[in-house]
Amino acid sequence: MSVPLNCDSWLAQLRRRVREVSPAEALARQVDGALLIDIREDSERAAGTAANAQGLSRGFLELRIEQVQADRDHPIVLMCAHGQRSLLAAESLQRLGYHEVSSIVGGFERWKAEGLPVTASTLDTDAAERYMRQLRLPQVGETGQAKLSSARVVILGAGGLGAPAALYLAAAGVGQLTLIDDDKVERSNLHRQIIHADARVGMAKTESARIALQALNPRIRIETRTERLDAGNAERLLAGHDLLLDGADNFPTRYLLAAASLRLKIPMIYGAVERFSGQLSVFDPRREDSPCYRCLFPTAPDAADAPNCSEAGVLGVLPGIVGLLQATEALKLILGLGEPLIGQLLSFDVLDMHFHKTRLSRDPACPGCAAGR
Ligand SMILES: [Zn+2]
Repeated sequence: MSVPLNCDSWLAQLRRRVREVSPAEALARQVDGALLIDIREDSERAAGTAANAQGLSRGFLELRIEQVQADRDHPIVLMCAHGQRSLLAAESLQRLGYHEVSSIVGGFERWKAEGLPVTASTLDTDAAERYMRQLRLPQVGETGQAKLSSARVVILGAGGLGAPAALYLAAAGVGQLTLIDDDKVERSNLHRQIIHADARVGMAKTESARIALQALNPRIRIETRTERLDAGNAERLLAGHDLLLDGADNFPTRYLLAAASLRLKIPMIYGAVERFSGQLSVFDPRREDSPCYRCLFPTAPDAADAPNCSEAGVLGVLPGIVGLLQATEALKLILGLGEPLIGQLLSFDVLDMHFHKTRLSRDPACPGCAAGR
């Protein structure tokens, strides 16, 4: 039997197998394109880290490294507090096939002592705890959380679509939500507009929603506009936002929103439900190839062909599904994640649980976007 290693002899062995670099050399490598990963725990990094370092705790390193850097040939520099944990971590990454891994001698303590660039954490303890599960996603992290907290999303309608969307966007830490609605809460709303409550029947929907959202996340700002969107106030109400989330239940309001989206160059996240089916798309006027709402619906159908929920009836979960899909698209756009539903129409029917996407192209004769874009 071989003699068991003690910690010091194991580290000594690792130093022969892992390349160690000084903090200054690590910085030079980072400037040349190497990925600098701070493998300390979230709580340690909360006090600050090396500028532009990616945080990925030692405990999750092997599990998540491929999400952060899938290319085994890409140079990686690991940093811990004093340069020991990063040695262990480097050896582990080598076993996973990463060829160019090095470890910083003296870790973050020496990095700081040598006066190299440091980023103070932007998150206080409340935020670090509240958003912990999404902060752990390498695609979100503190950088993504900062994007969320500076985002301003307007939600048109605190009803079937707006209610679930607002709850999840508030929970995710979107910095400002502006709610526009001039209705009052009715008991018949409650089977789907779950942001409201029985005790708030009769209250303005904007105020009722504000109470629920602020209770869920007191960190974010909720603006309420208890008025009906019309041609005269649309620009005033919608300007200054990053995204428009369409929770309208009628065509005239959607057309106003669509026109404002084009004029103000703010993406519109469209969603609609009818009985057992729903649909969704994203219209982004900042993109030349993106269709607009009127490329899809050039003219409003007759009221008889497009009944709203109060006339046609709807299963309460339907707007819940669409509202959450809209919130998902909003988060993707804010975080720059994945492929937004631009130029695509997602339709589904819950009776057979069939979801399908169809391509949507810009209509050269569109009454909304053909001219002056
Ligand atoms: Zn168009």
